[in-house]
Amino acid sequence: MATERTFSILKPDATRRNLTGTINAVFEENGLRIVAQKRIHMSRAQAETFYGVHRERGFFNDLVGFMTSGPVVVQVLEGEDAVAKHREIMGATNPANAAEGTIRKMFAESIEANSVHGSDSAENAATEIAYFFAGTDIVG
Ligand code: GDP
Repeated sequence: MATERTFSILKPDATRRNLTGTINAVFEENGLRIVAQKRIHMSRAQAETFYGVHRERGFFNDLVGFMTSGPVVVQVLEGEDAVAKHREIMGATNPANAAEGTIRKMFAESIEANSVHGSDSAENAATEIAYFFAGTDIVG
């Protein structure tokens, strides 16, 4: 295992319920370090590009509508095996299937409003980080 970085989003359902600090504490307790973070309101174009891989899926418009419905917190997390670790802490996409103790089990409202996004590979993490952050924004 090596130290790596992943990209994370605290979604609008999380910011609406003021859960930014609560969820960040779960990351930090699990050895992930927040090395960059900013609160933004995504534009429709930004969300459509970010989720472009899902463009053909039936839920695409709903997902873009949800992700632009309120502020989000975009983050870069760093740690040992950060991509897999973050996915493990998040839990399954559908909170009904998420394991006990995972963020989605504890906080998600639905399969769509599931509180957090996390990159699914180191390669996608690098692309997603570069979409929202300049190298100089990240302080390890
Ligand atoms: P993730 O990697 O666990 O976030 O899951 P995916 O990459 O498959 O999906 C991206 C996001 O689309 C999820 O986190 C959900 O917010 C949303 N999503 C996934 N499946 C569905 C679905 O069946 N219906 C709706 N409305 N949203 C979904």
